[in-house]
This record gives sequence, C-alpha cells and structure tokens, in this order.
Amino acid sequence: MKYFSTNDRTHTVSLQEAVIQGLAPDQGLYMPESIPVLSPSLIQRMREMSFREIGYEVIAALFSEDLSVEQIRDLVDHTLQFDAPLVQIEEHVFSLELFHGPTLAFKDFGARFCSKLMSLLLDKQQVKVLVATSGDTGSAVANGFFGVEGVEVVILYPSGKVSELQEKQFTTLGGNVTALEVDGVFDDCQRMVKEAFLDPALKGKMLLTSANSINIARWIPQCLYYFYAVSRLPEGHGKIAFSVPSGNFGNIAAGMLAERAGLPIEVFVAATNVNKVVPAYLEGHPFAPKPSIQTISNSMDVGNPSNFYRLLALYGGDEAMLRDKVKGYFYSDSQTSEAMKAVRKSTGYTMDPHGAVAYLGLKDFMASQEEPYEGIFLETAHPGKFRDVVEETLDESLDMPSRLMDFMKGEKKSIPIANDYQAFREFLLQSV
Ligand SMILES: *Cc1c(COP(=O)(O)O)cnc(C)c1O
Repeated sequence: MKYFSTNDRTHTVSLQEAVIQGLAPDQGLYMPESIPVLSPSLIQRMREMSFREIGYEVIAALFSEDLSVEQIRDLVDHTLQFDAPLVQIEEHVFSLELFHGPTLAFKDFGARFCSKLMSLLLDKQQVKVLVATSGDTGSAVANGFFGVEGVEVVILYPSGKVSELQEKQFTTLGGNVTALEVDGVFDDCQRMVKEAFLDPALKGKMLLTSANSINIARWIPQCLYYFYAVSRLPEGHGKIAFSVPSGNFGNIAAGMLAERAGLPIEVFVAATNVNKVVPAYLEGHPFAPKPSIQTISNSMDVGNPSNFYRLLALYGGDEAMLRDKVKGYFYSDSQTSEAMKAVRKSTGYTMDPHGAVAYLGLKDFMASQEEPYEGIFLETAHPGKFRDVVEETLDESLDMPSRLMDFMKGEKKSIPIANDYQAFREFLLQSV
C-alpha cells in the first residue's frame, strides 16, 4: 500500500516512510492510496467476534501488503489490551467508553498501536518522537512509548493549560520521555513541532517523527472501535449516527475511514466546544483557522485542526458530500456542565466534559431528524481525568480509579521553554 500526501496526490511513499516521516515534506497528511472495502457479510459476522478478532480483520485489510500475519496479530494484541464497552444510557443513546486503557483516554489506542508499529518498522534506527499536546496526547504517547528502544519522546505542552493529573501523566516518567513546558498555548506547541520537521538545520543530524494524530500509525487504528461499537448494537438496529467530541479531528476522521471501508454509518456529528472552526465550515463558511480558546473540555481546545484536510480527502475533495455526511454542533462550557448534571440526574451516568459535548451534539442531531436513529457518542476520557471540573459541576466526589491516582505520586519534571521555535531548535541540537 502506498500513502499519498493531502497536498499532492502524486507524492506517494511506503508505509515505513509515512510512519517515520509523520508529516509529508510538503506539510500534507498521509492517506492510504486506496481504502479496502470490507464485505457486508464480514461486517455482519463481527457480531460474533471479539474486539481483537475484529481488529485482525480490519488491520489485515489495511496493512497486509506490508506486514506479516504475525506482525498484525502482535500489533492488534498489543493495542487492544482493554475493552471499549458500549453502554446504553437512554433509549437509542449509547456511550462508547474509550477510557479503559492505561491513561484513561481514547488516545491509548492510537499511541499503543503507533509505538508498536514504529518499533516494527524502525530497524535499529534512532528516532525522536515530537509531540505537541493539549493534555491527553502527551500522557497516552508518553505511556505508549515509555521504554521503547530506539525512541526518544519529546513532549511540548502549554504551561498551566492542562490539568494537574494530565501533566503528571507525562512529566513523571523520565527515562526516554522529556517534557517541555511551553510558555504559550497548544497552537504554539503544534507550530513549533511542525517547524522542527521542516527545518533543514536538523536534517541529517537526527531522525524526527510525530506521534500526533497526523501520523497514520496513530490515526488509522482509531477506526477499530467504530467497527466494534457497531457490532455491539442490538440486532435490527436503525440508522447509525456517531457523535465525536473533536479537537484535532483525528478521531472522527478515523470513523469516517471506517465508513469508507464499508461500515454502515449514516451520519457523523462533529461536536466541539467554542473552538468551532469545523462546525462553522460545515454550515457553509470557508475553513478559517483561529487562535484557540480555553474551555473545560481542554483536550479539544484546538483552533487549527490538523486533520481537516483528511476529512476532505476521504470524500475525494467533494465538499458537498462532506457537508452532507458530517453535521457540526458546538457548545459553551455552561451548556456542557448543564448536560453533565442533567444526565447524571436522569440516568445516573457520569460523563466527562468531552463526552458531554458529544452527547449534546448527538441529542440535538437526533431531535432534528424525523426518523429514529441509533446514536453512539464517544466517551473519550474517564471523568476522573477532569476531576476538578466534574466534581464541581456535579457537586459530588468521584470514585477515582487507582491507576489514575498512582500517577499523582510521581514527581513532576519538566523543562520550561519560550513559545519560540529558535529555543526549541537549540534544545534539539543540544540533545544530539
Ligand atoms: C484528544 C481528545 C479529544 C479530541 O480528539 P481529536 O482526535 O483531536 O479530535 C477529545 N476528547 C479527549 C478526552 C481527548 O483527549
């Protein structure tokens, strides 16, 4: 399988190059040249398969030209070490809980797959993985790559803009993981990482790659839990809508990849907080990146969603088709907390702020339709990851999972840095 750049369809590379480069040299995102379509009968049979068995089928369809059967099994087994239960919370409304991994957020799926695939493809080279994070990426990548030989991880995060728990998850590991605390916002971190990839002064001195969702090895495996969720819906279900709480739009783009690969999903709801660049686009405005705004769903505080061009590429650049398939909704912090309270009260279910945004989008979409839908919203983080906000909103104390509390025991180690590329370049050159 070849991978093309969203900026230039004629520029194609191998799987190994796509994974190790992360971003294409022309700054485009890599996409598989052709998307295999799974047969309806295979998708039907998934009802009887385990999550891992579904994983083998989907990953084999996408990667079997480049990986052996054993490698595919290894990858899937390493990635799917935890479940993603589909929990019904209201009639026709399901929460897909993606927070049962080591750092209690959905990014564990992509990070685990990515570290394993990189170690399969690296072939004794040394590589630096650069990660810009607004919170959960840092923890998932740090934990996914911790101790992986040949890989050094450098995490850039905006100082004071991630929760203490999130911060502890990537600043306390040490070893091959270094955290740079940037005096700025997430978009600064992302820009600094992008500049490093393009900097000729670093070329030849080090091998740099990314583990953000721009990297196909982070992005593609996220399609697995869409297949799994659909396979767990009740028999004879109606049309399916997925609502995805979106920041960089990697997660929803992976769902759309699943749909292109044959999974019968009628509609995607792109649910955001007030960083609503994509919902505005979907309503007919031009795509216009903006500075990010801080919210209580801070892992979605993204003003320039890097996977946007993947959404377009998945529909062959057809904007009308994209706008037909994906509906945008956005919510303020107060709407988000109201939803968390209302759902807790009426159903007993606790949502985190990100899941709550997706829940709101799903409900508003379903209410706008005449036909009944089966609605699935993605619960992307354990509520305990946003303990302060959730406890204050619900006015009750949360049961905290012990593996989350274990992170709090570690000592934070970070290196402060200006929101300026020169400073970052110096750091990278120094560490050669
Ligand atoms: C990263 C993250 C998101 C946004 O996912 P994207 O793939 O960037 O759209 C949503 N919720 C949580 C909890 C996250 O960590």
